[in-house]
Amino acid sequence: MTMFPTKKSQLIENLINFTVKELPRYSEKRNYDLGPPHKNVSKLSPYLRTRFITEEEVLKIAVSNNNLKTIEKFIEEIFWRTYWKGWLESHPWIYDEYLNTSQHQPLPKKTGIKCFDYWKEELLDTGYLHNHSRMWFASIWIFTLGYSWQSGADFFRKNLLDFCPASNTLGWRWVAGLQTINKPYLAMSENINYFTNGRFNPAGQLKEKINYNYIEHNNSYVLPFVKPDKIEFKNFDNLGIILNRNDLSLNYIFKNMEITYECCVYSTKHENKLVNDFNNNILQDIIKNNKSFEITENYNQIFDWLTKKKIKNLILPYETVGNKIFNVKKFKDKLKQLNIQYNFFLRDWDRNAFPHATKGFFKFKKNIPDLINLVDI
Ligand SMILES: Cc1cc2nc3c(=O)[nH]c(=O)nc-3n(C[C@H](O)[C@H](O)[C@H](O)COP(=O)(O)OP(=O)(O)OC[C@H]3O[C@@H](n4cnc5c(N)ncnc54)[C@H](O)[C@@H]3O)c2cc1C
Repeated sequence: MTMFPTKKSQLIENLINFTVKELPRYSEKRNYDLGPPHKNVSKLSPYLRTRFITEEEVLKIAVSNNNLKTIEKFIEEIFWRTYWKGWLESHPWIYDEYLNTSQHQPLPKKTGIKCFDYWKEELLDTGYLHNHSRMWFASIWIFTLGYSWQSGADFFRKNLLDFCPASNTLGWRWVAGLQTINKPYLAMSENINYFTNGRFNPAGQLKEKINYNYIEHNNSYVLPFVKPDKIEFKNFDNLGIILNRNDLSLNYIFKNMEITYECCVYSTKHENKLVNDFNNNILQDIIKNNKSFEITENYNQIFDWLTKKKIKNLILPYETVGNKIFNVKKFKDKLKQLNIQYNFFLRDWDRNAFPHATKGFFKFKKNIPDLINLVDI
């Protein structure tokens, strides 16, 4: 059975199974990478990243099968993505700096470090790596092999099903010691041996000590997160919604409010076939369950659709740093020309959390109980 189903019904069935069988012991087992099919972790990241399923939906299912107290660690992990996304909103130049400094560094076919070579193949074959292996892989990439963290982040960007600009860039920076200054993450062979249950032991092959003296530059100021105004269409007549990889279930908010709308899904080709097929298949599932939705692949197809459907009010998923699709002058100018009022819709989940994500995760997580109280789970 595939690790990453592309039908929502199957995803929910797997999630229920996971919350019943694995979640009660998640906090004690989550750090072990026992290899595919990675039963001890949820493998939800490709779906949460695109909101094919939302955080609220996941937590509702998790809580219906478990006591809230026993799944605190899982809830905390769910909030890591929210935190990284919010943090990048207040430090947007970090993403530009990464894009400007990244350069391709080809990897040798085999490095001779068994675990590293295995994880590289696992990532290419499945589009996924366990969190602990991402940390070990990134650390070996940077400190043992001497490649730049940016080229490693690029390698992940091209091959992960769940690529997320915030979690990936900041995950790599964290390993490199740039997020928590002068605290790089060093992969240790003993730790790898222990948490892979003896599958790998690269003793003597890793750089386990470094003379680290990195001085972080220009990272001391923070932009306050400016929440966009809440949606204020005078009416919802001729409403259109465009779904894309930033949010594939935004329409449900309006469906639940019993507001009628037209909807299209925007998708572009991904260079990696595995990722491209996964993206196409989850879109097909959305289309199958919503027969009136159309797929669009470029701006012109969208403008044609807007005109054909006589859309006057348009909702687009909010675009966080690194996720720009429509928040560009050319697109917005055309909407104005077509006399279409538009709104980049920020979900309350993010609206409530992002303002707390300016410092470290430890400070951020103190807000989790209040944030949970604000959602309907
Ligand atoms: C170098 C590096 C790069 C990474 N790149 C990405 C990326 O591009 N996209 C991505 O989604 N995650 C990334 N992560 C975070 C993390 O590894 C994955 O989210 C996690 O492994 C997904 O597996 P899971 O769904 O089985 O996790 P579970 O343990 O089941 O966690 C549940 C959910 O919590 C969230 N989560 C858990 N850990 C993290 C974390 N450290 N950061 C952010 N969210 C988290 C995810 O949404 C995940 O689906 C990266 C981590 C590192 C160290």
